[in-house]
Amino acid sequence: MNGSGRGTGRGGLLTVLVCAAAVLTVVVELIAGESLLVYAAGPVALLATTAGCYRVSVHPRAPRAVRGFWRLWAYSSVALVVTTVAAMFRAWRDTDGMPLYEAVPTLVSLVLAMLAFRYVPPSRRTLLDWYRLLLDGAAVAVAGVLVFGYAAFDLAPDGMPPTTRAAAAAVGVTCLLALVVFGRAAVNPEGRVDPAALSVLAIGPLVGIVAVVLFLGGTDWGVMLLSALGYPLVGLGMCAAAYRQDRVLNGLSTRWTVTGARWSLTDPLQVLAVAVTAVLVINVSARDLDLRGQAVIIGAVLIAAIVVARQLLSLRENTLALRGIRRQQEELERLALSDSLTGLRNRTGYSLALAERLDEHLPATAVLLDIDDFKMVNDTLGPSAADQLLYQIAQRLQDGCGPGELAARLGGDEFAILLPVDDPVAAERAATRFQALVGLPVQACEQQLMLPASAGIAIGELGETADEVLRNADIAMYAAKDAGKASWARFQPSMRHDLANHARLAGELHDGITRGELRLLYQPVYDLVTGRISGAEALVRWQHPQRGPVSPAEFVPVAERSGLIVPLGSWVLGEACAQLRRWRDEHGDAAIAAINVNVAVRQLREPGFVDEVVAVLDANDLQPADLVLEVTESSVVDGWQVTETLQALHEEGVRLALDDFGTGQSSLSLLRAFPVDVLKLDKSFVDGIADGADRGRLAVAAAVAQLAEHLQLKAVAEGIESREQQDRLREMGYRYGQGYFMARPLPADECGALMVAAPARAA
Ligand code: C2E
Ligand code: MG
Ligand code: MG
Repeated sequence: MNGSGRGTGRGGLLTVLVCAAAVLTVVVELIAGESLLVYAAGPVALLATTAGCYRVSVHPRAPRAVRGFWRLWAYSSVALVVTTVAAMFRAWRDTDGMPLYEAVPTLVSLVLAMLAFRYVPPSRRTLLDWYRLLLDGAAVAVAGVLVFGYAAFDLAPDGMPPTTRAAAAAVGVTCLLALVVFGRAAVNPEGRVDPAALSVLAIGPLVGIVAVVLFLGGTDWGVMLLSALGYPLVGLGMCAAAYRQDRVLNGLSTRWTVTGARWSLTDPLQVLAVAVTAVLVINVSARDLDLRGQAVIIGAVLIAAIVVARQLLSLRENTLALRGIRRQQEELERLALSDSLTGLRNRTGYSLALAERLDEHLPATAVLLDIDDFKMVNDTLGPSAADQLLYQIAQRLQDGCGPGELAARLGGDEFAILLPVDDPVAAERAATRFQALVGLPVQACEQQLMLPASAGIAIGELGETADEVLRNADIAMYAAKDAGKASWARFQPSMRHDLANHARLAGELHDGITRGELRLLYQPVYDLVTGRISGAEALVRWQHPQRGPVSPAEFVPVAERSGLIVPLGSWVLGEACAQLRRWRDEHGDAAIAAINVNVAVRQLREPGFVDEVVAVLDANDLQPADLVLEVTESSVVDGWQVTETLQALHEEGVRLALDDFGTGQSSLSLLRAFPVDVLKLDKSFVDGIADGADRGRLAVAAAVAQLAEHLQLKAVAEGIESREQQDRLREMGYRYGQGYFMARPLPADECGALMVAAPARAA
């Protein structure tokens, strides 16, 4: 897009150059002596002008209003091409004055140019404002008629035919009015068309006024301007304006900003109109009246002048009052669009800025930044310290913004950046830069903290709304969170499918739970020294009627996100405890001592979870020590609510195991703060332990065993797949192990049979 934009810019410059060349041709011709060739420059220049205006009217980044505006100017230019051809024909025929075939296209061209201004919307105006505008225009028009009328009929050379005089005066008045319209449009703060381009367009009416004045003054230059030189000059103004607009659209020039139309062109014009008229009245009346009559006229003019001055004064007062109101309004708007804590833009302010860029087809990318585990920070440090952190991060993002970038706080711990780019590489680079800014250490309660953030990037596409782009960025951010903390993702349409798939799977899982499609398998946990089964882990399975068996790795995350994990987890807990009861009843002492049940963080956040566990144990006539709940490290650091739940479970006597130990943010302080009984070394540390290839992992496995011994915790190695691994782990100090080498997850009866047979298989 950028490349083609610059191409258009070059095209615009070319158009300006053609026009300038045409002007030069005319000037040279005029100096060297007029010939028909002078007239040929007009059509050439205006054809180039038409091309220049047309280019802007089809510019891919131009808003609709801007396209419409320049389209009408292109049409106006076409009409002027006809005019210039007509002028050439007239010169060839050697006709005097302006024949109808030349006047009509001129008028059409003027009307089209005026019509273009309906695309420059007026600022919000009341009916009174409209009347005032109309009166302004009328004042200028009346003054124009008087001045040009006087010049045409009193000052113009004697031989000039009356129709020519009238036509010249009409052209002068029209140009004057056009100047008012252009001036008003250029100072309109809500106008879409570039104010600088509008100002350049005013060259047309200015040339017209100068030409008429010179013509009526009887100079040759006036004739030349009106008949030949004027057209390429007007064309030059038009295509220079189009070129300027083109540069603004391509982002090569910045748009002029108008702070408010406090002094429009009409104010000085109005004063001028009154002054000139007064001079005319005095001048004309002085010729025919006696002294008394003259005094009355001068008195009347003076009174009129005083009334006008009075008018201007009250206008000034109004303007001041209006300025105060406007300032208040701006302040209110600013408050409505900004976040009170950080001073950044809020969601509304951000959406507005994003929508503005999208509407104008300017490149825009939304980056969402969400701080990982901020809930925990909030819970542990308290809300006011958390606010301090957010403030520091906001300042950092604000300071990190380059030209055209905008930082906002959408709410809670969610920030957003608006980037003026549409190139994926640039967007990703900027997003990681801001992500790194969030991740730098922050100070709160005399502590240094590092708060990693996840980032979602969405590039605004043609036709997308701000809401859609933000939603895409949100989807990308969740994809980033899923991929692991402190990562980023750029939105891909397939992510929406993933989301839809998850939603579908969640729906089916909901039905599956009620239809009884879930069942439990049990994987024995062995005592590696005695070879006896010491326990078993309940692992859920879903037999989908169409899809077949669905892995828990696939549906457990879906259940967690949708909240279905709560009923699912309740069912697993009840079923696992009931199974332990059955084994006890069937096999007596040979049955395992305790059953392991996996618990998701979502379940731990449920207020009634402890009561539920106690009730299930009671219902199955089990002791709290008969149950081991497996939780992951990340769920332990979820916040005070979860910490309290775990503490209460521990006090009840239920044992807790840290699952997948070593993969999360394992820290010694975590082990001290959390009432843990069992460490389950993650399978990834067990893989390759036998050949000793990965020294790092080997060291972690050994350290975890020692740690468990020192803290008097039970260490369990997960995912043992060979005898070598089993031997090696036992040597390291692992007393317990679980894995396909000893037994896969099994149906309840097979697992029960193993319990009975296990003593025979003692190591
Ligand atoms: P986990 O709790 O770490 O469970 C251990 C996983 O490792 C199980 O996979 C088990 O079948 C597998 N495994 C055991 N030994 C070996 C081995 O030697 N080699 C290999 N390759 N794998 C082995 P599964 O059953 O697919 O479960 C995956 C995860 O799903 C579990 O990881 C657990 O986080 C979750 N999950 C399973 N059932 C439940 C449940 O009832 N509730 C909750 N909240 N999560 C569950
Ligand atoms: Mg587990
Ligand atoms: Mg595990």
